[in-house]
Amino acid sequence: MWKITFKASLVTIAVILVTQVVSFSIRHSAGQSFTAFVFAMNSILPVLTAFPAAFLIFWQNEKLSRALAELSQAHMQLKAKATHDHMTGLLNREAFFEKSKQARRKCDSGALLLIDADNFKSINDTFGHLVGDEALKLISKALRSAIRENDLVGRVGGEEFCAFLPTTGPDEAAAVAERIRVEVERLAFYPVEGRPHRLTVSIGAVVSAGQQPTSQLMRLADRCLYEAKEQGRNRVVFASPVVPVV
Ligand code: GH3
Ligand code: MG
Ligand code: MG
Repeated sequence: MWKITFKASLVTIAVILVTQVVSFSIRHSAGQSFTAFVFAMNSILPVLTAFPAAFLIFWQNEKLSRALAELSQAHMQLKAKATHDHMTGLLNREAFFEKSKQARRKCDSGALLLIDADNFKSINDTFGHLVGDEALKLISKALRSAIRENDLVGRVGGEEFCAFLPTTGPDEAAAVAERIRVEVERLAFYPVEGRPHRLTVSIGAVVSAGQQPTSQLMRLADRCLYEAKEQGRNRVVFASPVVPVV
C-alpha cells in the first residue's frame, strides 16, 4: 500500500508543480499578481483531486497485475496437469507421443524404448495397491535419472513407460536402455520394513534411422518387449536389424 501512496504522491507533486508554473505564467502575462492564496489553491486542489485519482488508478493497476500473475500461474499449472501424469510426474501418454512426434519431425533418427515393470501384479497382490504406487514412483525416478537431458520419457500405461531418445544410434541407445535396467534393479524398495523387494523392468527397443511412423516403431518395440518377458524378464531386447532408412 505504501508503494501506491508513494507513487500517487509523486504524481500529485508533479501536478502541483505544473499547475504552479502554468498559473504563474498566465497570471504574469496577464499582469496579475501571484498571491499566497493562488499558491495555496494551486497546491490544495491537486491534493484533493489528483492524489485520489492517481491512488485509485495505481491501486486498480496493482490489483490487475496480481490477478494476471495468478492467472498465468494457474494456466501453467493446468498446462502441466494436462501433459503430465499426476502420480509419477512423467509425461502422460498423449503428451509423450505428441512430443516424440515433434522431436521426430526435427530429426527422424532416434531410439524408442518400451519399458514394462516386471511381475507388477504380484507386488500389488502381495503388498497392496498403495505400495504398488510407491514402486511406480520409484521406477519413474530411476527412469528420469537414467535418461539424458534431451530424451523424452512418459508413462504410457499402468506399469508401462516409454522413452524416446532423439538422434541416438544403436550403441548409445543400448547404453541408455541398459542404464535404465540397472538403475531400476538397484532401487532400494522396502515394502515391508527391513525386507527389500527387487524391482525390475523389461525393455523392448527399436532404433530408427528413417521415417517409419511411430506406431510401427511401437509395434516393433512391443514385440521385443514380449521377447524380453519370454526370455526371463529384467533384460533389454533390441529389434534386429536396426530399422533401415526408407
Ligand atoms: P509382466 O512381467 O508380464 O509385465 O507381469 P505384470 O504383472 O507386470 O503384468 P500384468 O499386465 O499382468 O499386470 C500389470 C499390473 O500392473 C496389474 C495392475 O493392477 C498394475 N497396475 C497398473 N497400473 C497401476 C497403478 O497405477 N498402480 C498400481 N499400484 N498398480 C498398477
Ligand atoms: Mg508388467
Ligand atoms: Mg504391462
